[in-house]
Amino acid sequence: MNKKIVVIGSSNVDLIMKMDHLPEKGETVTDADFFQVYGGKGANQAVAAARAGGNVAFVSSVGEDAYTPQMLKNYKNDSIDTRFVFKEVGIASGHALIMIGDQGDNYLSVAPGANYNLTPERIDEALPVLEKAGIIVMQYEIPEETIKHVIDLSNARNIPVLMNFAPARQFDFSYIPKIDILVLNEVEAGFLAGMQVKNEQDAEKAAVKLIEQGVVKVIITLGAQGAFMLTNDQKIAVPAFKVDAVDTTAAGDTFCGAFAVANAEGMIPADALRFASAAAALSVTQMGAQPSAPTRTEIDKFLK
Ligand code: ATP
Repeated sequence: MNKKIVVIGSSNVDLIMKMDHLPEKGETVTDADFFQVYGGKGANQAVAAARAGGNVAFVSSVGEDAYTPQMLKNYKNDSIDTRFVFKEVGIASGHALIMIGDQGDNYLSVAPGANYNLTPERIDEALPVLEKAGIIVMQYEIPEETIKHVIDLSNARNIPVLMNFAPARQFDFSYIPKIDILVLNEVEAGFLAGMQVKNEQDAEKAAVKLIEQGVVKVIITLGAQGAFMLTNDQKIAVPAFKVDAVDTTAAGDTFCGAFAVANAEGMIPADALRFASAAAALSVTQMGAQPSAPTRTEIDKFLK
């Protein structure tokens, strides 16, 4: 059995309207197309890791609304251990309201809902599964004190933490060196390193700054330009696979989920990066976040 991957993070219901133009303030746009999908970076990464072959447990807080039962069913269908998906009372699950115009321009509003009920106390309740983790995976759509609590617990137990610092926002920077694997896109790397990151050269400079602070491994994803990894003694750049991209939503989430699987299986870093890049490339060839995460069979076939 592979080492257990414990993903701790958000579950969201995404409500999407596509329309020919975005409304002005006070305007009603009619004739929009409506889609409802499941998202949240935590959930996306848990699903991506499970499909990529991981033995995954998900720790999350969901609410009470009409969408949540199906959300939970989806996690189970992907063989995710949901014993520590907490059902919070009197609150809705996290929701994202997304309006997309014909140029891909958008309005986006997120109500964290139950995601902010994932408190340090909830993490303590999830200790039985957390302590069995071979790797812990987190993102930043849950409260800061919860992230810090998980990092403290993991450091005390020598369990490696992969933190996808997304979305970039204020954080207690004294905790950055306590993270083992930091996965960042260009914006997040720029935010943490205090510089613009647009290409591989910038990514290397940003990664050096973070390694100097004590992070063990920094991975910076650069969309269609690929990914870059730096440790104290290793530097690896992996070009993106050439595919016909139709929707890049959650490419980073698929990358993180697949990288966690590769890490849990003990792949060497170059192979792990290639595996994660292949999964992410496959995900951009399909619409949607969770629906686009590829299975292990699809990833292995793509890499042959
Ligand atoms: P998101 O926030 O939507 O999850 P992100 O900004 O965190 O995405 P990206 O840096 O855009 O993540 O992409 C992550 C990885 O996905 C890249 O390093 C690359 O391997 C792969 N990828 C992204 N876009 C493409 C593309 N157009 N073609 C092939 N691979 C891609």
